[in-house]
Amino acid sequence: MLMNELWESLVPIGRDERTGGYRRFAWTRADLACREWFRSAALERSLQFAVDGNGYLWAWWDEPGAGAVVTGSHLDSVPDGGAFDGALGVFSAFAAIDLLRERSFTPSRPIGVVAFVDEEGARFGIPCTGSRLLTGSLDPRRIGQLRDADGVTMAEAMTAAGIDPAGMGRDREALARMHAFVELHIEQGRALVDRDAPVALATSIWPHGRWRLDIQGEANHAGTTHLDDRRDAVMTLSGIVAGARDAAVATVALATVGRVAVEPNGTNTVASCVHAWLDARAPDGETLMRLVERIESTARRSAAQDRTTVTISQESYSAPVEFDPSLLDRIQRVLGDVPAISTGAGHDAGVVAAEVPTAMMFVRNPTGISHSPAEFATEEDCAAGVDALASALESLASD
Ligand SMILES: [Zn+2]
Repeated sequence: MLMNELWESLVPIGRDERTGGYRRFAWTRADLACREWFRSAALERSLQFAVDGNGYLWAWWDEPGAGAVVTGSHLDSVPDGGAFDGALGVFSAFAAIDLLRERSFTPSRPIGVVAFVDEEGARFGIPCTGSRLLTGSLDPRRIGQLRDADGVTMAEAMTAAGIDPAGMGRDREALARMHAFVELHIEQGRALVDRDAPVALATSIWPHGRWRLDIQGEANHAGTTHLDDRRDAVMTLSGIVAGARDAAVATVALATVGRVAVEPNGTNTVASCVHAWLDARAPDGETLMRLVERIESTARRSAAQDRTTVTISQESYSAPVEFDPSLLDRIQRVLGDVPAISTGAGHDAGVVAAEVPTAMMFVRNPTGISHSPAEFATEEDCAAGVDALASALESLASD
């Protein structure tokens, strides 16, 4: 019952009534309401609440300390995102602690719940910002100066939320005290539907990256400019998008152009300029590079054909991640015969895995859809996820 109340109180925050999707961008009002939800959930459970220099939220059973077993996820969302991405992992962490207490379990190690900041990068453009700050793989000064669509820097947004951006950066203490990290997450594909299982362990994360495409053409009149005289930036974009799909098919990988800004964006004007973002992912780093090289050569060809220019710049890259085999083994022994799958989606767990033995669990998503209001999990499957997480924490915090 407590579990349901906890979930129900999170559901309305940052929800767009029109679409049913979520807009919980880092350091916005909705994000701050989610952070308040976390604080209340911690205090209601008599967990020790803390905010660290990077702005993460922590809840400790009992005291933070060395050898801690940590679980959690993120509370921010993509534009019009689903209810479960990130939120399910944070909710399940609290629910698992409830369950362990019901089972009268006494941990021999501190158990920590964490909510990372800005996992999706929806506002400032870089994914897993919070966890990358934690591990020191991002320069905090550069990150603080990233601007959102309204020109607000992350440092300004943090300051307005009462967090001093000067505290951002590698957090040796937080990393050193983590004995293990387990992130539970909604599945973002159909692997568990195909396997008819409510819960899976994740073995690895595909390498992935973001590239920015700047296409420069020439604005002109849609009614009077001959087709041959045009330098149409949208034509070049369409060549790149179609070419990216062909390249992804050829390399057995994934390529997506889901964000586009067109200038001047007029119905009766040939587009002068397009900014677009490519998201590319592959099972291994070599395939990913091959995919992006193919897309780059398509882009050059399209631009030459349309007499436009194109500049491609890499905005981020996440190397492949293998989760900790002995941790996976141990959780697998506790959970019994659960499927083990790899995923193309990036997660904070993938960043933390570079420094801390890390594992991930997925809960079945019957729609297979994520980053959309159609993302879903049944109550039974969520309960199975909480149960699995509780059992994993119980085992890890027992010695
Ligand atoms: Zn997520």
